[in-house]
Amino acid sequence: MSNLPRHVYVHVPFCRHRCGYCDFTLVAGRDDLIDRYLAALAIELDRVPEPLELDTVYFGGGTPSHLGPDGLRRLFDLLAMKLRIATGAEVTVEANPLDVTAGFVAACRDLGVTRVSLGGQSLDAATLKALDRDHAPDDVRAAVGTLLDAGLLVNLDLMTAAPGQTLAAVARDLAAAAALGVQHVSVYCLTWEQGTAFESARRRGDLVPAEESLERAMFEAAIDGLTAAGFEHYEVSNFARPGFRCRHNEAYWDSRPWEAFGPGAARFDGRTRTTNHRSTVTWINKVLAGEVALGDIDAMTAEQAARERIVVGLRRRDGLDREAFRAASGFDLDALASDAVTRWVAQSLATDDGSRVRLTRAGLLVSDALWADVLL
Ligand code: SF4
Repeated sequence: MSNLPRHVYVHVPFCRHRCGYCDFTLVAGRDDLIDRYLAALAIELDRVPEPLELDTVYFGGGTPSHLGPDGLRRLFDLLAMKLRIATGAEVTVEANPLDVTAGFVAACRDLGVTRVSLGGQSLDAATLKALDRDHAPDDVRAAVGTLLDAGLLVNLDLMTAAPGQTLAAVARDLAAAAALGVQHVSVYCLTWEQGTAFESARRRGDLVPAEESLERAMFEAAIDGLTAAGFEHYEVSNFARPGFRCRHNEAYWDSRPWEAFGPGAARFDGRTRTTNHRSTVTWINKVLAGEVALGDIDAMTAEQAARERIVVGLRRRDGLDREAFRAASGFDLDALASDAVTRWVAQSLATDDGSRVRLTRAGLLVSDALWADVLL
């Protein structure tokens, strides 16, 4: 069987407006760069030695829907040079609720998009305002309805720990999201990143982050609320109705190889993660000049890759199966992590039935602090 990647990520770095908390690779209000971006993408695609047959494709950003229906069609035409989408593949496009027009939906249907990931963040007007979003709750509701009516699967992103957001407001958001009939919900806690407008405002004392105890209570409310509404909590931040997990993210969490295109996009060959230059303008200029436009290269030994596989595997509620881990990594889980697993089990942070190790809810709540026990 071929080792070529069967998963592709395409980064589309354009937004109408930069939300105050966002430090992703993107440009806002620079639609003049779209033609040059597509030209650079064509060159990057041309460097792929042979066509790839894909089980999942994920268009993230930025805001891919900001390209509009015609831009999306141009993007897919380019990709067809080197990418073949397999029958039954999952094809996800991230969208801003304001971009979900009849034309966008028609383009999605024509192009074989199966799933739209909607950056809704909240269904509460005060929370959306606090998050500096450019849309209203009714825009989210209307977009979800339009997408579901068109037969597309929908993920809705929700954010917790927004400035001033209460636990009751989070509970209302969760209930409202579940009632919309979406198949998938991702819940992320607001993070305060260096260089963002939110972080500057926090330093001035104009914005105040939520207390850690409130953040945890919101995360627990998400688990309880969405599970009660019929969603399966299958990864730290992700919830799906049965049968509707995101197959693309599952490929990441299985440490399968994937290819990636666009500024800031990271590819993985099973051992080495290579990230494109994070500046959109620099990436475009370098690629168009025929130069290599890479940023970080993270080359791992086989053991480091196996240890990272433990971390990404344990973020999933299914946990890590010892046999599957050995078959995929070539390493024995206990040889790499028996001390850590024993300690976690003793602290009720994990369970171990002899074949499978899983984090408990208490473990998930502190998971980021556990990984140093495993990584070299
Ligand atoms: S729409 Fe999304 S990618 Fe664009 S600035 Fe806002 S959070 Fe960032």
